[in-house]
Amino acid sequence: MAYQTVNPFTEQTVKTYPEHTDAQAFEALGRADAAFKSADWGQGPIEKRLSVLSKIADLFDERADDLAHAASIEMGKRFSDAKEEVKLCGGIARFYADHAKEQLKPTSCETSLGEAWIENAPIGTLVAVEPWNFPFYQLVRVVAPAFAVGNSVLIKHAEIVPHCAELFESLVRDAGAPDGACVNLFITPDQVAALIGDDRVQGVALTGSERAGAAVAATAAKHLKKSTLELGGMDIFAVLDDADLARAIKIGTAARLSNAGQVCTAAKRFIVHEKVADAFIAGLKTEFEKARLGDPLDPATTLQPMSSKAALETIAKQVDEAVKHGAQVLTGGKVADRTGFFYEPTILTGIDKNSPSFKSEFFGPVAQVYVVKSEDELVALANDSPYGLGGSVFSKDHERAKKLASQIETGMVFINQWTSTAPELPFGGVKRSGYGRELGDLGIMEFVNRKLVVVA
Ligand code: NDP
Repeated sequence: MAYQTVNPFTEQTVKTYPEHTDAQAFEALGRADAAFKSADWGQGPIEKRLSVLSKIADLFDERADDLAHAASIEMGKRFSDAKEEVKLCGGIARFYADHAKEQLKPTSCETSLGEAWIENAPIGTLVAVEPWNFPFYQLVRVVAPAFAVGNSVLIKHAEIVPHCAELFESLVRDAGAPDGACVNLFITPDQVAALIGDDRVQGVALTGSERAGAAVAATAAKHLKKSTLELGGMDIFAVLDDADLARAIKIGTAARLSNAGQVCTAAKRFIVHEKVADAFIAGLKTEFEKARLGDPLDPATTLQPMSSKAALETIAKQVDEAVKHGAQVLTGGKVADRTGFFYEPTILTGIDKNSPSFKSEFFGPVAQVYVVKSEDELVALANDSPYGLGGSVFSKDHERAKKLASQIETGMVFINQWTSTAPELPFGGVKRSGYGRELGDLGIMEFVNRKLVVVA
């Protein structure tokens, strides 16, 4: 069965959801297209859409407990983390409500041909294919800028978070968005492809795996539609010999274990200078071993379950594979012996460059640790990756860290912080981590007709 809620803490199936038929999917596209073309919405004054965004922000705040509870039940997120996610969602809606008018205002061009300017017009309906790891944030970061611009959105959320998808859709509707402006669909990859092929769809945004990204982007390319992809990462967490070690250990632990490690920008490769390696690794091990596995709704829990049985099986297989190729397990290394999809917090060392694990994303609470002798070696190791999403550099010398940041081939680098996200900051990567940006001033411009007008 495809769309269903399975509580990762209890392993119990809570509810199963019927899929939408082809006829229902295309009927929804018709409504989305009507909203895009409506003089009261997509083609109308921006103020109305921004006031709906403000209301969306208010509703995220008002409904925080219910929304967070749904995320905890469906994909195991710790309740307090889920509340943080919901707060961020409100912040994203508010950011575009407050700034989109300025971001989208026409800009003039100097030309000998006459008076010229660029207007920013909506392009049509977008398809958003989204993952379960941040079940509300992934949606709002597409829907909020789309609303500001005047585009409509059809959402295909992950199969394991159908209730979150429904709650999001009803929140948007309750905020005053017209019928069709944002529709959730429980559909298959084939139905997603059929929608992308329709002329009324003009863009696709996907966050998820390379496999899904490549499939959806290929369909979009075949039909000459724009796409943005936010895929996986193998972000580095570099600890230089002058780093504040206590801070690096504390943040490094959170950066790897938060959301059970199921974060695209989680710290996946710890690259540590040999002078501080023993102290850092010992500190990280102590912190990992302190993790309290438990009910995501219990405030005492510090490590949540994996989102699904499949996710648990994948991470277990990856660790076994790494060990088979010579990696050493410093702590953890197995499925926790209890009910729930829990994997023990794990530290791996000694991963050889020829091991498949060296270039595989571990989407779970598993740290890979590498020790280097120099900054050159650090940069070479950091860039020896198919991915290029984010990364962190820890050093008390900001100039030194900034120089390193400019040599790292990723879309984002954070100094003395874990790679993070905020409404005003563009988010996205290079290489196999995808293309395009979400959030900030750049994100709103991805699905816009930047229309040139020249008056002779
Ligand atoms: P997927 O990429 O399979 O899922 C993400 C979304 O894409 C889901 O809505 C999924 O639907 C959909 N999808 C998958 N294949 C297609 C397709 N061919 N056409 C249309 N939609 C599709 O991720 P998984 O949940 O399977 O996780 C696997 C890996 O993906 C992780 O281990 C991690 O490496 C990466 N990932 C990265 C994320 C990020 O934030 N960048 C988030 C989640 C995963 P459905 O649920 O129906 O399969």
